Amino acid sequence: MRRQQLYLGRIAGIPIGLDSSWFLIFAFLAWVLARSYYPSEFPLWSQALCWSMGILTSGMLFASVLLHELGHAAAARAYGIPVRRITLFIFGGVAEIGGEPPGPLAEFLVAIAGPVVSFALAFGCDLLKSTAGIGTPLFGLTEYLAFINGALGLFNLIPGYPLDGGRVFRAIVWAITGDMGRATTAAATVGRGFAFLFIAFGAWEMFNGQLIDGLWIAFIGWFLNNAASSSMRDRSMQTRLSGHTVGQVMAQGLPTVPGHLTVAAFAGDRALSSQGRSFVITSDRGPIGLLTLDAVARVPAEQWEHTTLAEVMQPFDHVPGVTADTEVWSALQQMDRVGVNQLLVVAGGQIAGMLSRHDVLAFLRTLHDLGS
Ligand SMILES: [Zn+2]
Repeated sequence: MRRQQLYLGRIAGIPIGLDSSWFLIFAFLAWVLARSYYPSEFPLWSQALCWSMGILTSGMLFASVLLHELGHAAAARAYGIPVRRITLFIFGGVAEIGGEPPGPLAEFLVAIAGPVVSFALAFGCDLLKSTAGIGTPLFGLTEYLAFINGALGLFNLIPGYPLDGGRVFRAIVWAITGDMGRATTAAATVGRGFAFLFIAFGAWEMFNGQLIDGLWIAFIGWFLNNAASSSMRDRSMQTRLSGHTVGQVMAQGLPTVPGHLTVAAFAGDRALSSQGRSFVITSDRGPIGLLTLDAVARVPAEQWEHTTLAEVMQPFDHVPGVTADTEVWSALQQMDRVGVNQLLVVAGGQIAGMLSRHDVLAFLRTLHDLGS
């Protein structure tokens, strides 16, 4: 799932993105703060001040969520787990961490680091509030931020996977049973339980006239249920793939195409008549690189006549590889870690084939059809 995202830049090498849904919550929050919260808390404030403070506070909440996610990222890095990106969206943020943590203690510390940052921010804001004069803008800002960071920390500690508290719960079950898969299932089940509680509570609020609040709570429940279900699907995929190696799943005998061919000639001829999505590019000296249809699609149509396949391909030493006897599930995790959709399969120093996410999906369908 790739949504429309605004790229903000990097912090400590980690790309920071803003999902388009975030603008909605930013505007909504600024509006609620400016028109309802600040005027009722500080009746002496002018309308202009309320609006400026609403926008400023909404922006500071964004910074707070970002710091929470950076807390997770820093802990993950300390364990050598790569962090691919941080995305901020309607419900807050998510730090995309490549691969599973190496053990329950790492999982626990990465999960708890976010809420710890939120509680530290709440404490810091509360401290700052005590130095500000009552009724001043700094007082209003720090009071709200102390409250919201505390609430953010507490909400994330709800023990339902994939919330931070659910990860803490998973780490504990993992430490006790020694089985990460079972721990994930247990944490996701509890997560779904909490999701249904949210939905039920939201519906109850709605029937009692709290339409917006109730709808919001139910919406959070719906989101949590989706997230918990998808982690359970991951888990069942892992179970179904266990014992299967890359060699069984990969595409063998990749079609070869000469590198001097232009994209136009290739697109008109080979790409359409061939079944595969990956091609080995050859020169006079033999195979030199790998071409995917995705890479071809990224070349603007007006350049097709003047671009050769050798210019579009990835040279072999840039393509991440696995051996044919690697487990499929760990190959998928490797794709996640390095952020690619295919891996070169090597056996005995030779190119044996190619493993793509498409191949894995097709293999899962075959397993399903065979009823195993
Ligand atoms: Zn978190």
